[in-house]
Amino acid sequence: MTTATKIFALLGRSVDYSYSPLIHNAAFQELGLPCHYTVFNISDPELVGDALRGAKALGIAGFSVTIPYKKTVVPYLDELSEEAASIQAVNTIVNKRGKLIGYNTDIGGFAAPLLPYRESITGQTVSLFGAGGAALAAIKAFSQFFSPKEILLFVRDTEKARIQLAESGYDNSAPLTILSQESPEIIAGCRVIVNATPLGTIGNKGSAIPLDRQLLNPGQIVYDMVYNPLDTPLLQAAQLAGATTISGIEMLIGQAERAFTLWTGISMPTSAVRKALLQEIEQ
Ligand code: NAP
Repeated sequence: MTTATKIFALLGRSVDYSYSPLIHNAAFQELGLPCHYTVFNISDPELVGDALRGAKALGIAGFSVTIPYKKTVVPYLDELSEEAASIQAVNTIVNKRGKLIGYNTDIGGFAAPLLPYRESITGQTVSLFGAGGAALAAIKAFSQFFSPKEILLFVRDTEKARIQLAESGYDNSAPLTILSQESPEIIAGCRVIVNATPLGTIGNKGSAIPLDRQLLNPGQIVYDMVYNPLDTPLLQAAQLAGATTISGIEMLIGQAERAFTLWTGISMPTSAVRKALLQEIEQ
């Protein structure tokens, strides 16, 4: 590192095990860019504003933002992209000559691996489990890129989900129905099923999956946002049922590619990054 090295960082809480430093440093190294990516753990949400003011003073070139600060950072930014404004959530910040600009690359990153199936999704019913930040990005992506007939949102607390959705400023651009996850029989007819809960993550309820395996069938695309393990219990069940599967690693790489381009103006060397990431996860 020299005084010319551009610093990028992840802003979050308890993010010691994030793959973002590996992804971006592998890309910087592959391209020989004088850049370095590090992690800032902020335990107190009250300090997020101070951190961003400090970042301007120090000339930090950009941030990724993760749980639980994707919404917290919004009031401290100078501008928001249209997508970030549409769900009031930011996962990427660019420091453009002292102005902090917030973007949301989760939306495009989520949509990317579904795009080859776009024609078969348009006009069909799709479903999501969970109503947190990742689900909101997926809802926005569905309505922006796929025009489904209906989006079914399965949650454990319907009232809480309703409030979260209203706060996010969801624009009703696709008809959305919030349902209790206790009764997802209707899911058998859905073209896409997305797990946007942490269920299935290593250390989170072991082999639990958010729905009854009997409801999985070959007509579905099953997309698990969880990427650790790569072969999640839900993806294993979906493969057994003959469904098409998409791993959360595709979204992880897709959102990182878009952030990398916003920061550097060039494309991320995706194959080198994928190789480094898979090696790390498999270890
Ligand atoms: P979040 O804001 O904390 O939301 C989590 C959602 O899951 C909430 O609706 C929560 O419901 C629900 N939930 C939690 N535990 C559950 C359980 N045991 N059973 C049923 N529902 C449960 O988190 P997020 O940012 O949306 O992320 C969700 C998942 O997606 C995480 O595993 C995250 O790692 C993953 N993700 C992956 C990518 C990627 O690039 N692949 C990107 C973003 C997120 P309550 O409100 O009732 O607690």
